[in-house]
Amino acid sequence: MTFCHLRLVQASQKKPAVALPPTKRLAIVTCMDARINPFTQLGIKDGEAHIIRNAGAVAKDALRSLIISQRLLGTREIAIYHHTGCGIVTFTSPELRQKIKDADPENEATAEAVEQVDFLTYPPDLEQSVRNDVKFLQENPLILKGTKVTGWIWDVDSRQATRVI
Ligand SMILES: [Zn+2]
Repeated sequence: MTFCHLRLVQASQKKPAVALPPTKRLAIVTCMDARINPFTQLGIKDGEAHIIRNAGAVAKDALRSLIISQRLLGTREIAIYHHTGCGIVTFTSPELRQKIKDADPENEATAEAVEQVDFLTYPPDLEQSVRNDVKFLQENPLILKGTKVTGWIWDVDSRQATRVI
């Protein structure tokens, strides 16, 4: 299915208009992992929540979107989901940088650029990584005071979420 075809399908669905600010005033941070579908698996409907996705569901990576979500679109609760079997725990930033450099060893621009990227990996202790991300958000001066921040682990096999904090 091409992108143009997708656009045509969307335009022809004629769903009722949904307001821009999320009705649950909720922002969800979750991984880009293809096995996770936040809408069906977390029971979120169109218009209810912002879904911010990145490799590993890293709070620091999501910060830009979270600030916009809170300051311009009124969300007041954040739920962060790390998950079992996440690829982000299987490598480190130095390892990925080296792999990228090794793929094109003569390319100085690549070597220089990749040194500027922090891939924000974390070790396999998911409870700890969730706690770290919740703490990062609670202590970040750009996140509104009084924001409810919860941290969860999503089990990709059982499709169950367990609250950590
Ligand atoms: Zn993941």
